[in-house]
Amino acid sequence: MTQTITIKLKLYRPTHEKEKMYQLMTDRVTAFANKYISLEKKDRPKTSKQAKQYSEPLPSAVLTQAIRDINGKKDPKYFKRLWCNFNNQNFKVEKEDGNWKVSFPTLEKRIGVPIETSERQNDCLEKLINGEVKQGTAMLVKRRGRWYIHLSFEVYIEEKKKEKEKIMGIDLGLIDILVAETEGQTLFFSGGKLAYMRRHFKSLRSRLMKARAYKKLKELGDKEHRIATDINHKISRAVIEFAKEQGVAKIRMEDLTGARWEMKQRKKQKQDSGRSLQSWSFYQLQEFIEYKATLTGIEVEYVNKDNTSMICSVCGHKFTSRPKGRMFECPSCGSIRHIDANAARNIAEAISGIAS
Ligand SMILES: [Zn+2]
Repeated sequence: MTQTITIKLKLYRPTHEKEKMYQLMTDRVTAFANKYISLEKKDRPKTSKQAKQYSEPLPSAVLTQAIRDINGKKDPKYFKRLWCNFNNQNFKVEKEDGNWKVSFPTLEKRIGVPIETSERQNDCLEKLINGEVKQGTAMLVKRRGRWYIHLSFEVYIEEKKKEKEKIMGIDLGLIDILVAETEGQTLFFSGGKLAYMRRHFKSLRSRLMKARAYKKLKELGDKEHRIATDINHKISRAVIEFAKEQGVAKIRMEDLTGARWEMKQRKKQKQDSGRSLQSWSFYQLQEFIEYKATLTGIEVEYVNKDNTSMICSVCGHKFTSRPKGRMFECPSCGSIRHIDANAARNIAEAISGIAS
């Protein structure tokens, strides 16, 4: 894909004679243009040689380009002004002792004219003489009493492929608390430490229950929550870091509707059982991931959790029973996959659909 860019180069201090000549050329080419369109289409000159009889003296290159410019306009009725235009054969850009000069045919002869350039224009002109951009036409234009060259370039623009947005799937579980997967890259959080802590708290809790030490029980519950919350903050932070590193645009997680319901129950009952803590903890982890993702500009979606562990994410084979062990070999395609990474991939693909 090419794009045309025009830079406006100011002619450096042209003499009054030169300015008068530029004006004369402009008046002549404008007069020619109006003469040209007044002719019947069949009678209009096609070459500069034919055009000369309808115009006061002008360089052939200017007349040829004028015919092209006039025909490029849609049914013109009158030209208040037509500027002299030069194609890339007739207009040259040169660099002499670090100064830019342009040259083009005029009424006298081909003249070289110094130009004033900005930093950006220098870059464009460098690209032009290095052949990195293709020169278009150059138009001799008067603006507010000063003469300019409007030089156009054809710049090749690499068409941006619309990047497929990268999606990360997150699977939550007991053995691995969290497995995040995006296009083959995975992040694991083992639940080992947390599982140990839960067992520890559970035995403490049952002892306190037996002793009917309710105040101590409450304190224990609060402590367990603080620890779980702290862990969730750490995990969610790491997940978002990973997502940013991987250039993820969207995170998909399972819709833990049941856990949300339990969360509400827990709030109502102010009760603390091991099971509700765990669901509550997952719910909180998702909440933390969601708000941290949103702050980073990553979108979050929830998917239905059915089947996410029951389908091979490589070939789509449906297992008849949940694969045994942490790693499994797909009986259909032979892929060896980690069970939660497989689920996370299926969540990323939203194989069971987006939760409403
Ligand atoms: Zn498979």
